[in-house]
Amino acid sequence: MKKWRLIIDVGSCQDCNNCLMACKDEHMDNNWPGYSLPQPRHGHRWIDVARSARGQFPLIDVAYVPRMCMHCDDAPCVKASSGAVYKRPDGIVLIDPETSKGRRDLVDSCPYGSIGWNEAENVPQKCTFCAHLIDAGWKQTRCSQACPTGALRVEYVTDAQFAGIVKKDGLEPLHPEYGTRPRVYYKNLYRYAKCFIAGSVAAEKAGVVDCVSGAKSRLLQSGKRIGETVTDTYGDFRFDNLEPGTSDYVVEVESPGRDKKTIAVDVLSTSKNLGTIWLSQVSTETEVR
Ligand code: SF4
Ligand code: SF4
Repeated sequence: MKKWRLIIDVGSCQDCNNCLMACKDEHMDNNWPGYSLPQPRHGHRWIDVARSARGQFPLIDVAYVPRMCMHCDDAPCVKASSGAVYKRPDGIVLIDPETSKGRRDLVDSCPYGSIGWNEAENVPQKCTFCAHLIDAGWKQTRCSQACPTGALRVEYVTDAQFAGIVKKDGLEPLHPEYGTRPRVYYKNLYRYAKCFIAGSVAAEKAGVVDCVSGAKSRLLQSGKRIGETVTDTYGDFRFDNLEPGTSDYVVEVESPGRDKKTIAVDVLSTSKNLGTIWLSQVSTETEVR
């Protein structure tokens, strides 16, 4: 049976917040009977963009991670609700706007913090996956339709088909340790959740300082090679997707005609810019003469 999924590409999100504005436009001041009461003007963000910066100047990057209700298959909110929150056969989790009245306790049932309290309507609320539009024949949510970069992609697929997409695109859920089996998956999540080791390689010759492009860079952990790359036009290299808190790294850099440099990184508590690594010219017979 086909069910709804949302795929979020962290590598494509630019933090423009069109998705948030589209969600506000769809739900604020609008009552969708059977689906949701009006979203309050302030306080609620049924889709929200988290931000994280990695590295140190000038080797830094910023990742944006849109977050919303994950429409979990094993949802704590459903379990805690005595029927006020339910999962539809198509995978969407909805809070019943009538039977959930007064259930402020449900706000704390979501480990993702996706449920907000609507004081004016006396109900807990969250993203509905625009179920009122889906049921009217839309194939998109308002947020996915409004995203100008394609960072939000709605899929209507079987679980087996989705498993193939997960494998092909390297998707992963946010906080799998919560054990809720989310239906929202992320691409390029490492840009938010993992660390990198990077650096710039330079050399001086006859008083001229220049970037060294094409220098071989290797990453070893506990003596075992786990990555290899070459520096780009600007002499930069980067090893990404490393687990935070891991340790015992060594970076080796070498380039023909220059000496080899080795830099140790004990514990990778956060992404690390090793700065400029200077390679010295190795004297050749021709130059000695
Ligand atoms: S993300 Fe939170 S609110 Fe949404 S289904 Fe999962 S537990 Fe429920
Ligand atoms: S509309 Fe798309 S690019 Fe803009 S913040 Fe939302 S997900 Fe990111």
